Amino acid sequence: MSEPLLSELKSELLAISDLNSAAMVLEWDQSTYMPAAGADARGRQIALLGELAHARRTSPRMAELLRGLSSVADRDDLDGALVRRAHKQWERATCVPASLVSEIKSHSARSYVAWTKAKPSGDFAAVRPYLEKTVELSRRYADCFAGVDHVLDPLIDANDPGMTTATIRALFDSLRAQLVPIVQAIAERPAPDRDFLERAYPEAAQLAFGAEVARELGYDFERGRQDLTVHPFMIRFASDDIRITTRVDPNDLSDALFGTIHEAGHAMYEQGIARELEGTPLGEGVSAGVHESQSRLWENLVGRSRAFWARFLPIAKERFPEQLGDVDLDTFYRGINRVERSLVRTEADEVTYNLHVMLRFDLEAQLLEGTLKVADLPEAWDARMASDLGVRPPSPTQGCMQDVHWYCTTIGGTFQGYALGNVIAAQVFEAAREAMPDLDARLEKGDFGSLRGWLTENLYQHGARWEPGELVERATGKPIAIDAFVRHLHGKYGALYGISF
Ligand code: ZN
Repeated sequence: MSEPLLSELKSELLAISDLNSAAMVLEWDQSTYMPAAGADARGRQIALLGELAHARRTSPRMAELLRGLSSVADRDDLDGALVRRAHKQWERATCVPASLVSEIKSHSARSYVAWTKAKPSGDFAAVRPYLEKTVELSRRYADCFAGVDHVLDPLIDANDPGMTTATIRALFDSLRAQLVPIVQAIAERPAPDRDFLERAYPEAAQLAFGAEVARELGYDFERGRQDLTVHPFMIRFASDDIRITTRVDPNDLSDALFGTIHEAGHAMYEQGIARELEGTPLGEGVSAGVHESQSRLWENLVGRSRAFWARFLPIAKERFPEQLGDVDLDTFYRGINRVERSLVRTEADEVTYNLHVMLRFDLEAQLLEGTLKVADLPEAWDARMASDLGVRPPSPTQGCMQDVHWYCTTIGGTFQGYALGNVIAAQVFEAAREAMPDLDARLEKGDFGSLRGWLTENLYQHGARWEPGELVERATGKPIAIDAFVRHLHGKYGALYGISF
C-alpha cells in the first residue's frame, strides 16, 4: 500500500536532485569559465533554482508523502534509509523561517565584502561588528532546532550526521594530547630539503602529470573531467558526470599534484556509489568527514607514501627531467612529508593540520556558547597557536582572519569535518591493509584497483545508506577512534625523523 507513495516520493526527490544539479552546473561554470561580468545574472539564476528546489521540498504534498510513509522509515532496508534521510532533509528545510534564511544571506554577503577588504592589512576592528552579528545569527539559526544539548550540535549534524559537540570534543581532546608532543619532537630535528619542489614546473606539464596520476589511481575521465579554478573542488552533477578542478602554481609541483589527488579521491568516492541510488538522498557521500576521509586517504596515505613514489618518481623524472633529475626516492619522500610549524591551515602538513582545525573548532564553540567574546578572538587564537604549534601570527591576516569560513556564512559545523576526515582515513586504510597485507607491494606495482575495489565494496557503494558512525564501523569493525591515525603518525614520522614514539 505504501508503494505508490514511495514511487511518488522518489520522483519528487529526483526532481529536487535535478534542480540542485542544474544549479551546480551553473556554479561550476561560475568557478571555471564564466566571465566575471556575468556574476550578477548568475547569482540570480542560481538563487531561482534554489527557490524552486526549496518550494518542492517544503510543499504540502511532500509533508503528506512523508507522513504516509512513516512506517517505511522504520524498515531496515534501502527504502527505509531513503525515507529517513528524506525526512531529515525536509525537517531541516522547514524548521528555519525564510526570513532568517534571507537575513543570514544578506548579512553574509556584506560580511564577505568587509573581510576581503580588511584581510590584507589584518584590520580585525573592521570585521569585528560583522562577526558579532554572525555569531548572533548563527545562534538564532541553531535555536530553530529542537532538543539539542549544545548550540553547535545542529550545525554539526548538518554536515556530519550523528556527531555532536560532546563526541567530537572527546575525540579532539585526546588527539590534541597526542599531536602536540609529536610536533615538538619533530621540531627539534633538522628539516628535510624540499627546494626541488619549488623549481620552475611548466603549467601544462603539471596538469598533464596530475591527470595521468588521477587516471592511474582510478578516477574515470569517461565520467568526469578536470578544469582550472582558483579554489579547487569536486562537484557531482550525476553518477556519470563527476568533475574535479585544479589550480597550478608554476613554482611548486606539490600544489597542483596533491590537490588533484585530493579532489580525485573525493570524485572516486562519488563515482563508486551504487547506480541504483542515483537521484535519491542516498546517492551521495554520507558526510563531510567521510568525504574528506577519502580525499585524504588518496592524497596522504597513498599519495605521500614511499610505495606510491617508488612507482611514480621514475615517471615524474621522465616528465620533469631538468627539475627532478638529481632527486632520489629518499630525498623526494622526505621532502613531500616535511613537517612545519606554519601559521596557515591550508599549507599545513599531515601532522600539524589537525591542530589548526581543532583550534578553530574549539574557538567557534566558545563564540557560540558566549564564553569567548568576538573582541577577544585574536588573542585567544594567537595564544592557542603558541601553545599548540609554538608559533604566533604576526597579524590577524595569518591568524583569525585567514579562512573565509567565518566571514561568508553562519559559524560552526564545517571545520570538524577536516580533522574527522584524517582520523577516519587512517582507520579505513588500516582496515584495508589488514584485508590486504601486501597492499604496499601492490601500490608499488601500480595496482591501485585492489585498494579502490576494497573501498568501493566496503564504503563507496553504500552512499548515504548508513550514518557515518555505522558506515565506518561496518567497514573497519570498530567505532570511529583516533588510534589508527596516531599509529600511522608514530610509524611514518618516527621513521622519517628518527624518533621513537
Ligand atoms: Zn576535501
